[in-house]
Amino acid sequence: MSSAASLPPSVPPASATAVAEAVAAATTLAGARLRDATFADLTTLRVGGRPAAVVECSTPGALAGVVGVLDRAGVPLLVVGGGSNLVVGDDVADLVAVTAVTTGVPEKLAEDAEAADGRVTVRADAGTVWDDLVDWSVAASLGGLECLSGIPGTVGAAPVQNIGAYGAEVSALLHRVRLYDRTSGETTWVTPDALDLSYRYSNLKFSARGVVTEVEFRLTTDGLSMPLRFGELARRLGVSPDEDHPRRPVADVRAAVLALRAGKGMVLDTSDVDPDHDTWSAGSFFTNPVVVGEDARAAVLTRVTARCGADAASAMPCYPTSTPDGPGYKFSAAWLIEHAGFPKGWKITGDAPAGLSTKHTLALTNRGAASSADIVALATAVRDGVRDAFGLTLEPEPVWIGVTLPA
Ligand SMILES: Cc1cc2nc3c(=O)[nH]c(=O)nc-3n(C[C@H](O)[C@H](O)[C@H](O)COP(=O)(O)OP(=O)(O)OC[C@H]3O[C@@H](n4cnc5c(N)ncnc54)[C@H](O)[C@@H]3O)c2cc1C
Repeated sequence: MSSAASLPPSVPPASATAVAEAVAAATTLAGARLRDATFADLTTLRVGGRPAAVVECSTPGALAGVVGVLDRAGVPLLVVGGGSNLVVGDDVADLVAVTAVTTGVPEKLAEDAEAADGRVTVRADAGTVWDDLVDWSVAASLGGLECLSGIPGTVGAAPVQNIGAYGAEVSALLHRVRLYDRTSGETTWVTPDALDLSYRYSNLKFSARGVVTEVEFRLTTDGLSMPLRFGELARRLGVSPDEDHPRRPVADVRAAVLALRAGKGMVLDTSDVDPDHDTWSAGSFFTNPVVVGEDARAAVLTRVTARCGADAASAMPCYPTSTPDGPGYKFSAAWLIEHAGFPKGWKITGDAPAGLSTKHTLALTNRGAASSADIVALATAVRDGVRDAFGLTLEPEPVWIGVTLPA
């Protein structure tokens, strides 16, 4: 089982009776209640078995309090927001799911309204739906979050993997994160530098370090977006190539991002009748691989040229990036998957219950009746195929619980 679901260090695991007692105690806290659900119900990939219990928390205090009660009793738990970055196994009966669900509205903090940098601070509970926050900020003409429109999940999970899209990352907007420390049992505000934020990573991901209960963001107030950095989005908004730091009204950027995402099946379809199975996914399943140094880049290009030809190699997306080990290059996982012989909609067999999205090769999807084993088989086939073709090993982006990808 992934360490994200583990106990804090030095806590011995609880017996079944102790689990039941701790869950009963946790649900007496204000803002906490027991809910009947499986992980398939709680995740966007819609796979995963029934946990020992599901405790739903509707306030930041309840979220910290419930995790504290369960941790002190030695009950293995997993904090779940929108379940949109999780792959959960079918056998997870020893685990309690603690869900963050908030109906509270985001708040603009008055004392910051005239800050010297012309930004305001906005605070939201961890259980707030991420896109509700973005929608609210755009309606209030606040700039910063617009490129992150349409990302599923909750505010509390946004710093966990430093969400990003269309040239923006949440790390650039974060002011402070209110964190319940699962070892000390204390809740404090921490600044982003305490989280080791990097590409789709923070030290909260894959760890039992802490629980985010609230998040503060610094947003601009002139009604314009952050400078647009992503070519596809900029073109859609009519940006000319010689425009320096192009900015556009936040509402226009949000609309353009949502349209682009919908075309790739990257906006959730929550309807029960005839749902779009391309959205039954965990989003981008693999991170874009990064290699360090010119020699490593040349080695990939050689493999791509040998397999796909020189024209394809020269058209392959490849972006300079910095890494802790020096200058590096980032490749597009979607491009590599497609060129390794996995087209949109690909399945292991014609009637397999899991397959690549018909709109985007980077999304592994549940076509309606997939188990976690079907997702693992699909992910293994794609990862191994890309490795055989180009010598690059794709790393999964979601958090895995109770199930692993074979080496
Ligand atoms: C269709 C689709 C499109 C997507 N597009 C993008 C995209 O463009 N960019 C991007 O970055 N991601 C994307 N994702 C991935 C996902 O939406 C994000 O990672 C999102 O932030 C996950 O939020 P969540 O609330 O669903 O987290 P969950 O899936 O519920 O949890 C993910 C991890 O965070 C932990 N966690 C959750 N809440 C808390 C908390 N309050 N405190 C501490 N830990 C917590 C969980 O324990 C788990 O380890 C996409 C997913 C889907 C399904």
